Amino acid sequence: MLAKWWWRFHIEPNALWCKVIKSIHGPSGGLHDNSNLKANSGLWYHIMKLKDDLATLEINLSSLFMKKVENGNDTSFWHDKWMDGDPLCASFPRLYRLESNKCCCVSDRCPTPRGYDIEPLIVDFGPLGLDNPPGLNFHWAWCRSIRSINEVEEHNNLVSILTILHLYVTEDTWVCSIDSSRKFSVRGMINLIIIAHHTLVPSSPTRWNNISPAKININSWRVLNKRLPTRINLDRMGVDLDSVRCPMCDEDVEMKDHVFVSCKIATDNWKEVAKWWKIPYDSSFHLHDVIHMAENTIISPKLVKFLDVVVETPIWITMKFRNNMVFSKKRLSKNLLLNDIKLMSYAWVSSRYRKACLNWLEWLIYPCNAISFSCNSS
Ligand SMILES: [Zn+2]
Repeated sequence: MLAKWWWRFHIEPNALWCKVIKSIHGPSGGLHDNSNLKANSGLWYHIMKLKDDLATLEINLSSLFMKKVENGNDTSFWHDKWMDGDPLCASFPRLYRLESNKCCCVSDRCPTPRGYDIEPLIVDFGPLGLDNPPGLNFHWAWCRSIRSINEVEEHNNLVSILTILHLYVTEDTWVCSIDSSRKFSVRGMINLIIIAHHTLVPSSPTRWNNISPAKININSWRVLNKRLPTRINLDRMGVDLDSVRCPMCDEDVEMKDHVFVSCKIATDNWKEVAKWWKIPYDSSFHLHDVIHMAENTIISPKLVKFLDVVVETPIWITMKFRNNMVFSKKRLSKNLLLNDIKLMSYAWVSSRYRKACLNWLEWLIYPCNAISFSCNSS
């Protein structure tokens, strides 16, 4: 995982590779500011760009790594992220420009106690007041005095933050807020991406056909909401796979539209189902079109929920066919798939919908003639 290099960049500042990166891309390695990023920057380009890639999932990679200040001797006051929010150089840009020693440490700028009687509580350096809390000495090293309203405002805000800063004797360390261990792990990163991915992908409204078994309804919902472990979904979650290609035909990447619609096996199923029900099927159909086929087909309203059961069946059967190939290495006969679709859908409709009678032989030929609502189920 590329994110691991972010962690290593932070915890191995004295490693040779880290020094080389800093000499090329600046003290922060270009990780926080990659505005000058060029695609030909080599491998480090992809590491820097990871921040933008994860931003599409609303993961702020920079904010995951933070310095835990102890004695403040190994933490850059302006460049390291050691408080919530951005590094101080980004949060207080006007003061950063005035700083004469931009590489100073936190311990250089940490306020120290002073006697109340030595200096006034408020010190004015110009036309505007600079607030200094009582009892603290601040060790600034500005190039010139602070004078504009904006500079004074930044100063007063920074001072109010620093008043609660206390240093200790132990050494500073990096922490990662990816999980409670406070250390980076690839597993933790994968979990974070999975959670972000599921949070961001808006769920399609739940469709529930009460004639279909629960497992069929749930399967359709999982297909619509990218909850199936297709190879492309697993790859996006960071799972290391030998191939992301379709296990049934090896002619395209295994995306849900391919598996359930455009893969040869799936297309043949849909064509057979359309011929069986004497309804149109367009080869340009996408998954959304086939899943909503029953609602969008001109057919007796009484028959819509039956056709909907039939539509869900090829999706279920294709998934089983695919899983058999992946996990059992067994290739089932695709010539029998239409028979399975007819048999399964008949079994579900006849056993779960008691307000109609189904003629099995008619069902095999043309289902619209097989359903009778006049029979008495009792
Ligand atoms: Zn395929």
